[in-house]
Amino acid sequence: MKCSKCNMDAVAHQPYSGAHLCRKHLIEDVERKVKKDIRQLQMVEKNDSIAVALSGGKDSVVLLYLLHKLFSKRPDITLFAVTIDEGISGYREHTIEIAQKVTDMLGIQLHVISMKGELGKSLDEVAAEERDKGACSFCGVFRKKLLNMTARKLGATKLAVGHNLDDEAQTAFLNVLRGDVGRMSRMHKKQQGLVYRIKPLRSVPEKEVALYAILQNLPVDFSECPYAHEAMRGEVRDIINSIEVKHPGTKYSILRGSDETARLLNIAQQDVTLSVCSVCGEPTAAEVCQSCRLLGQKQDMVDFVKG
Ligand code: SF4
Ligand code: ZN
Repeated sequence: MKCSKCNMDAVAHQPYSGAHLCRKHLIEDVERKVKKDIRQLQMVEKNDSIAVALSGGKDSVVLLYLLHKLFSKRPDITLFAVTIDEGISGYREHTIEIAQKVTDMLGIQLHVISMKGELGKSLDEVAAEERDKGACSFCGVFRKKLLNMTARKLGATKLAVGHNLDDEAQTAFLNVLRGDVGRMSRMHKKQQGLVYRIKPLRSVPEKEVALYAILQNLPVDFSECPYAHEAMRGEVRDIINSIEVKHPGTKYSILRGSDETARLLNIAQQDVTLSVCSVCGEPTAAEVCQSCRLLGQKQDMVDFVKG
């Protein structure tokens, strides 16, 4: 099959647009989508210091590479990377190596933050004690907190995360399934104490992020976290993927619908002012933040955080 834009062989097919694209035009298309969203949603502003959440997986590696490509010549923009080491043995060691490799390659500073060092226990230890809850419910909350804390302490004005179109569609769908209107409305909101999160890959389908990484020869690892099968997100991913096959463009429709819902909810709602968690002092909408509430079921960890 030939590229829809030139005479070269196609490496990708986009059922949602009908296009077949060669290497050059797929790369151009991914970069066009990212630049358009950065501009339209004003993700990067003058004098920004951007902390990039770098797990070492394909999404975050592509994110760091693209932000470096777009902004490394801007003297007013600073980029640095933050990796959270949750302590997932047999998996995280390798992705940290990749994070180190890619930051060395781009000349970007990397900060590795250990969950055990900050919270007293590794994710493997928590998961072993909380088999019924599943590791992901702890991991997501703890990682978000550590990323925000680290970005803020290092003076970041933005926190860039590698969520792609598939992740965003899944999150929007999960918010509906959980009836979580609060989370729907917070999608693009600036909140005091929380470093503003930007998602430059939000319009790029996961497959195209992976292909971009391969075509640009980036050091990435496609292995999956050993706990990944536990999350409800996996079920939602399968449902959305099967609908997308029959109705191409569904993921983009979900994203557009979720953006519009957030916009309408924000008109209807008062601004949420965050207070500080009475246990750890981090920003939260409740008296005790979600991370400390989860830790609260484990008194030794609360004592550790307090102490
Ligand atoms: Fe954490 Fe779950 Fe993701 Fe693994 S799959 S990194 S445990 S959120
Ligand atoms: Zn082409």
